[in-house]
Amino acid sequence: MKNFFQHPDSQGYFGQFGGRFVAESLIYPLEELAKAYNHYKKDPDFIAEVGDLLSSYVGRPTPLYHAKKWSEKIGGAQIYFKREDLNHTGAHKVNNTVGQILLAKKMGKTRIIAETGAGQHGVASATVSALLDIPCVVYMGEKDVARQAINVYRMQLLGAEVVPVKSGTKTLKDALNEALRDWVTNVDDTFYAIGTVAGPHPYPEMVRDFQKIIGEETREQSKKQLGKLPDALIACVGGGSNAMGLFYPFLNDEEVKIYGVEAGGLGIAKNAHAAPLCAGKPGILHGNKTYLMMDDDGQIMDTQSVSAGLDYPGVGPEHSYLKDESRVEYTYTTDDEVLEAFYEVTRTEGIIPALETSHALAYAKKLSKNLDKGKNIVVCLSGRGDKDIDSVRAIEKQT
Ligand SMILES: *Cc1c(COP(=O)(O)O)cnc(C)c1O
Repeated sequence: MKNFFQHPDSQGYFGQFGGRFVAESLIYPLEELAKAYNHYKKDPDFIAEVGDLLSSYVGRPTPLYHAKKWSEKIGGAQIYFKREDLNHTGAHKVNNTVGQILLAKKMGKTRIIAETGAGQHGVASATVSALLDIPCVVYMGEKDVARQAINVYRMQLLGAEVVPVKSGTKTLKDALNEALRDWVTNVDDTFYAIGTVAGPHPYPEMVRDFQKIIGEETREQSKKQLGKLPDALIACVGGGSNAMGLFYPFLNDEEVKIYGVEAGGLGIAKNAHAAPLCAGKPGILHGNKTYLMMDDDGQIMDTQSVSAGLDYPGVGPEHSYLKDESRVEYTYTTDDEVLEAFYEVTRTEGIIPALETSHALAYAKKLSKNLDKGKNIVVCLSGRGDKDIDSVRAIEKQT
């Protein structure tokens, strides 16, 4: 098998994907960032500071939990949850903001900007910015500002400024465009903290590296708790950061099957989804080449998903590479299947999962059914569902 640990190359390519497709004015700041990251990732003080915050502030390591009751109910393989929902702020996003905002301080930057969709990366950025005493501006589509009012208030409480974005579809992709625009204008003092494994090089690599602790811990915990590596890994894929975090340390373990689950929305056939790997084609968006949801004229299509956090028409370039190499199997689950898994896990395990996470859980159910009791599946429980209960209640009222 290939060695999957050698990507990206020095130009930021994962096979034909990734790279740096940006305005001339961003080439130098991206070079500066790549240089700083390559230096600090080997710096013992930096590594120790990140590690200390992850343990004392974020609450790592997170448990690998055997969901016995749910496994029994399904009647197939044993399902384990990697509990990223137990992190401070309730999801995996904070693993990355701790790393990036500490790096910003080391680089002497005095202002953080971030984009957010559902608000989780915005909250994680505002949280770490408050802790490290650095001003934070969060770009958020106007539509998401209205849909996610509580997260907007949470960011404001934490001292961040939330800027509603009125362009385009007024959602995550437009917020990303606006943040990039801000960065072009303010590169000298500003650090742009991207929330997933997308964007121009070095972001996909850097965010993956800050998230790979999920998979590193899972590997150690599996050896201890199962006496071996798991048979399969499953994670939901929006931009793809929780998935890359879990998958990466296992990529060279041929015996471990890996599944990435996109948002099937109302269905792929109905063209109402957010599944670029299952139903898109390669193109360029937000500074990198990757699978995108595009129409025949090359226009980016609107997305549709029950979860705001997966509502993105692109995906991190490393996933595009892993798809074409057939190392990871990408699939999708639909809104109906997602809600069913959401209720089932809540009722049987007493854990309310995020709707994003519920996409992975819905697929775990399908996969587990066809496997025998001796097989082990690890699902990345990427975040808790408290933020989603209003959406779920609204759906209940409609039906
Ligand atoms: C943001 C988010 C996601 C999607 O982002 P990825 O970069 O694909 O991980 C998934 N789950 C939760 C709980 C999130 O907050």
